[in-house]
Amino acid sequence: MSVKTRFAPSPTGYLHVGGARTALFSWLHAKKNNGTFVLRIEDTDLERSTQASVDAILEGMEWLGLGYEEGPFYQTHRFDRYKEIIQQLLDQGDAYYCYCSKEELEALREQQMADKEKPRYNGKCREISEDKAELNRVIRFRNPNQGEVVIDDLVKGKIVVANKELDDLIIARTDGTPTYNLTVVVDDMDMGITHVVRGDDHVNNTPRQINILKALGAELPHYAHLPMILGDDGARLSKRHGAVSVMQYRDEGYLPEALLNYLVRLGWSHGDQEIFSIEEMIELFDLSQVNVSASAFNTEKLLWLNHQYIMNSEPELVAKHLEWHMQQRGIDAATQGPALVELVKAQRERCKTLVEMADASLYFYQDFTEYDEKAAKKNFKADAIVPLQALLDAFNGVVEWEGGALHEIVLQTAEALELKLGKVAQPLRVAVCGAGMSPSIDVTLSLLGREKTLTRLEKAINYIKEKNN
Ligand code: GLU
Repeated sequence: MSVKTRFAPSPTGYLHVGGARTALFSWLHAKKNNGTFVLRIEDTDLERSTQASVDAILEGMEWLGLGYEEGPFYQTHRFDRYKEIIQQLLDQGDAYYCYCSKEELEALREQQMADKEKPRYNGKCREISEDKAELNRVIRFRNPNQGEVVIDDLVKGKIVVANKELDDLIIARTDGTPTYNLTVVVDDMDMGITHVVRGDDHVNNTPRQINILKALGAELPHYAHLPMILGDDGARLSKRHGAVSVMQYRDEGYLPEALLNYLVRLGWSHGDQEIFSIEEMIELFDLSQVNVSASAFNTEKLLWLNHQYIMNSEPELVAKHLEWHMQQRGIDAATQGPALVELVKAQRERCKTLVEMADASLYFYQDFTEYDEKAAKKNFKADAIVPLQALLDAFNGVVEWEGGALHEIVLQTAEALELKLGKVAQPLRVAVCGAGMSPSIDVTLSLLGREKTLTRLEKAINYIKEKNN
């Protein structure tokens, strides 16, 4: 039977990195087995689900490149189907109406807590056979009293739960709407999911879901419950540890490939290999090798990986992502300056994120209004006018604007004026970039182009003259 996995987020917030890791592992398992990956939006909690969150999830999946063969399915479109199954369970005697009021259940809970018992429904309405439709009622699944449920979890190993530990869970609320455990079961069954890969916060639901699946005569999927992700302090990863939303990583200048690579290593390893292409991940990933224990998020390592990806990916790919960051800064690279591919080649060694790269490259595309104060103070003294003027004259005569020739001019100017190279190149750099740091001067000049170089040189000379008047 061919493998079919799913990612089933509830749209109650952004796509969290933990969710993204779940999605990735589920996706990898499908890919590895030439199977099918399904995206299912579990939006039945009408109060907490929002369209903005659905959009954020879809955007996150797209940015990560986690494509799905089926979906997105929306549970809110499937209420009729859930109703049908609830009716079937009622007809079979595997579900029953429960008339207990909230107050009654609360009192029961308090009593059980006082008696140091586990709070659970006591089955009071289990045997009521009359149909009291006029009363407020929920529908409960009639969980077996006896026997046990065995889960052969692909990550956690064998988990055995006695049925008497499980109470009769509510599958439909008083307004008839289905609850989470019911909808998941119906969907996993109808969609033919063979492997349920999800966070281990759901492990307590699994025996209940298995019992419902059994009552429906459905084939049971395999389960793989992934350990949670912790922050660097050992607490569950949350906002206070920094970015947790996938799109925030895009905003902070990470490449999706780097984030995926980082996420795949959270709880899974292959020897001591750190860097995996997507193809390698698909080939090597194995659910049964996922760690049982929780793994900690390490932002430093993610940053390191991001730099590796910036340096070693095809510059075209990096440029594609950089383009978005430039656009965020109001820059249309195609019309305002050098090709982004060339920029990436010039900047990738020194920039660990695309935000750093974009911020450090603005002067290639737009004129700056101020010079970096420190750099100007140091390099724009009156004695800088002569070398800058000499450079301007020499550059004016260059026929073919090309790094090698420009570099040669800088060298010759220094030599002719008997100046140290730094006394020429550094004022030049500040003049054309506005700051004391840039790629090597030949690369910088050739990326900037003739026009920007000449106008900025002129401007700098005037600035120094004025300042020293
Ligand atoms: N919708 C659930 C959640 O977001 C996941 C359900 C599942 O994977 O079975 O936590």
